[in-house]
Amino acid sequence: MHSTETLPDARGHFGPYGGMFVPETLMSALHELATEYDRAKTDREFQNELSILLRDFAGRPTPLYLAERLTNKLAGPKIYLKREDLLHTGAHKINNALGQILLAQRMGKRRIIAETGAGQHGVAAATVAARFGCECVIYMGQVDMERQALNVARMKFLGAKVVPVTAGQATLKEAINEAMRDWVTNVRTTHYILGSVLGSHPYPMMVRDFQSVIGVEARHQILEREDRLPDLLVACVGGGSNAIGLFHPFLQDQHVQMVGVEAGGEGIRSGKHAARFQGGRLGVLQGTKTFLLANEEGQIELTHSVSAGLDYAAVGPEHSYLRDLGRVEYTYATDDEALNAFGILSENEGIIPALETAHAIAYLVKNAPKMKREQIVIVNCSGRGDKDVDAAARALGFKQNSQP
Ligand SMILES: *Cc1c(COP(=O)(O)O)cnc(C)c1O
Repeated sequence: MHSTETLPDARGHFGPYGGMFVPETLMSALHELATEYDRAKTDREFQNELSILLRDFAGRPTPLYLAERLTNKLAGPKIYLKREDLLHTGAHKINNALGQILLAQRMGKRRIIAETGAGQHGVAAATVAARFGCECVIYMGQVDMERQALNVARMKFLGAKVVPVTAGQATLKEAINEAMRDWVTNVRTTHYILGSVLGSHPYPMMVRDFQSVIGVEARHQILEREDRLPDLLVACVGGGSNAIGLFHPFLQDQHVQMVGVEAGGEGIRSGKHAARFQGGRLGVLQGTKTFLLANEEGQIELTHSVSAGLDYAAVGPEHSYLRDLGRVEYTYATDDEALNAFGILSENEGIIPALETAHAIAYLVKNAPKMKREQIVIVNCSGRGDKDVDAAARALGFKQNSQP
């Protein structure tokens, strides 16, 4: 067994998962990206430029916040929130977008494309493209454009072109297909800023590394505050980038448990959820081999979640590997549980979380009361809920003028 720290191997494998399942026309672009990234990793100038942008443009380090009222309410472990919601543009996505735009500059690629689900990654990509004066095209499913209209407007203000994708379920998977199609055609001038630990090598590794700043900071902060490591880390898992970003710097700390929370949607029935580790199977989707939701013929199944950012049929390949190892436990929260947690965090801490993040909070609402008071938990507060205010109000049945 490889040490989890040194994975993936040179061709992007995490055990049996990962790899490079892409058309021939993209292979040279992916190799170029891998080579450039390899150089950048040890280049002081690159690292310096990135850390200045993370600090002065994005707002790092983010606080590690002791959620006292939530802790008291749940009467379980001490709960800390890693406040990625306080970052510029409202979620952790900016960490990765900044890393990738710097790589694009080094490769001389001045046109940026990206896919987006909830719109957070589209906003992050459009933001860094504006910051560096690059042309930017964002692919977004028509259904997602409707449920995330606020973020569509933000991308347009930032100068990006937002292209609606109407194929299939008209959500994230179809948007990625369109982005890949564009990339194949325009690969010489274009960099594809992929938004999670998905797709072909080197993306799952590279996005993980850019997001690991979350866990590196959290580790340092908790040692400073508590003089010990936490007992448990919790994060929601869409593609899995905020989760792996928090988890990765703790993987060698055997006593730190980790839980990833997927979208249980309306329950674990075909077509009603996006919990790949509940009833998923091994397959290949959009460049990588991993756990995904497909039928026996390998056709990708429909997915559902109240949160657009978790609504995807595949999970990042490294998560499949960590699950096989038993290093990380994966569970799910339903739409109703997430909406309940959304209200609890808002009312008790004055923090309105993204609906994605609310899935991680829901795990605590359910499980914190079973834990000991002296235990310490860090939850990744991956994003803020501004974009979800309409969707949550609708789901919770708020009506204007008729509130108590
Ligand atoms: C995009 C997003 C997610 C899901 O993506 P991961 O790659 O799994 O982190 C979770 N939370 C927020 C706030 C997001 O914007």
